[in-house]
Amino acid sequence: MWDFSTEPEFEAKLEWIRDFVATDIEPLDLAFGHHLVYDKRHPVHREVVKPLQERVKAEGLWACHLGPDLGGLGYGQVKLALMNEVLGRSSWAPSIFGCQAPDSGNAEILAHYGTDEQKAKYLQPLLDGEIVSCFSMTEPQGGADPNVFTCAAERDGDEWVINGEKWFSSNFRYASFAIVMAVTDPSVQIYQGASMFLVPTDTPGVTIVRNVGLGGEAAGDGAHAYVRYENVRVPADNVLGGAGQAFVIAQTRLGGGRIHHAMRTVGVCRRALDMMCERALSRHTQGSLLATKQIVQEYVADSWIELHQFRLMVLHAAWVIDQVGGHKARKEIAAVKVATASVLKDIVFRAMHVHGSLGVSNEMPLIGMWTMAPVMGIADGPTEVHKITVARQVLKQYKPYDGLFPREHLPGRVAAARARFADVIEHELANDNL
Ligand SMILES: Cc1cc2nc3c(=O)[nH]c(=O)nc-3n(C[C@H](O)[C@H](O)[C@H](O)COP(=O)(O)OP(=O)(O)OC[C@H]3O[C@@H](n4cnc5c(N)ncnc54)[C@H](O)[C@@H]3O)c2cc1C
Repeated sequence: MWDFSTEPEFEAKLEWIRDFVATDIEPLDLAFGHHLVYDKRHPVHREVVKPLQERVKAEGLWACHLGPDLGGLGYGQVKLALMNEVLGRSSWAPSIFGCQAPDSGNAEILAHYGTDEQKAKYLQPLLDGEIVSCFSMTEPQGGADPNVFTCAAERDGDEWVINGEKWFSSNFRYASFAIVMAVTDPSVQIYQGASMFLVPTDTPGVTIVRNVGLGGEAAGDGAHAYVRYENVRVPADNVLGGAGQAFVIAQTRLGGGRIHHAMRTVGVCRRALDMMCERALSRHTQGSLLATKQIVQEYVADSWIELHQFRLMVLHAAWVIDQVGGHKARKEIAAVKVATASVLKDIVFRAMHVHGSLGVSNEMPLIGMWTMAPVMGIADGPTEVHKITVARQVLKQYKPYDGLFPREHLPGRVAAARARFADVIEHELANDNL
């Protein structure tokens, strides 16, 4: 059955979320920017964020994508997608609803692979929004190709000893623990020879070489750490899921992260379209309203069509994940990941144009939204690599054809069709009707 409707009870919750985000959360972006979202020591968390989180919990909307065993409602990905469309309007909103990256994915890993003790020490405070976590996989010499990873761990009695460097480990500076990928068996391919370690960030030997920011942020001010692990010792239990399981774990985690970015990007694109339409209906130039000019109408139409296509793609991918699990939705997730960067780039670009100089100024949020497009095309793997995934998955559904000419070659198909209807054709020819 195909059904595009939202249950009335959930629509009522979405209505509450829309109002709550607009009235009580978006002002945080305006007052504090996005830098403090993960800095739990800042007083804004105790004084403002905590009470807002309590209101979300009272509404039964806290971390609701998680199953009841982890304190959520098990809403699944489709409902999370509908929620994230709203939360995407604010950089604070995901944290206030307990579904922020990268913690949501890291919580999933700990829930599946952590010991009871690790769950009590790291997972529970993470789910409660008390601490922040980090995922440390990319290395300075490469991220898109894991074959170049050199960070390694060796077993020494009851411990593992980790040595190596990681690059762009988001939120490391605020994190209580990192999930670190390291090579544990160099004699096999990295896809079988790497493991995932739970590393408390205050472990001796862990140092931040420097914090890297995104373009526009002051040097040293960023949240993406270049980290060095030097003779870092962790207990044997800290290898999550067993040695050699890193990529199985990473796939599950990164799949979720990618589609959650896409869900929030639907919200960002809608915000840009809202701005574009409001401006088109408000600004006159050369004797007429912008909204009456055909090129501006084309901007509006193309943007609405692209956003609608993208949103349906995201919701469909979320639905596939709910039906069969993220590991069987690789094609859908990779396709959505590719679309995220390109739709964001195009819609925000048009919205900027319709606003003219104001659109590219620092008095509108559009430039900030637009610079997120290339970031979306690189974080969690570059567009090029995800296109390869889509192509491989699509090609798997096909077989080669043995003939000299392809199956759809018309002369052969026409001859076969004519042979099939030879009697009719002969009869009609005899009667001079063909
Ligand atoms: C905002 C942000 C947050 C991030 N957070 C984290 C994090 O928390 N933890 C973490 O471990 N990493 C994180 N990353 C790193 C991210 O995963 C990597 O940047 C990404 O995998 C690409 O690796 P790279 O930067 O080393 O680029 P490279 O691997 O050097 O690739 C450079 C470029 O080469 C091209 N390319 C690569 N492979 C192919 C191919 N097969 N075919 C054609 N072209 C190709 C693409 O254009 C690609 O962008 C983050 C990145 C960003 C931007």
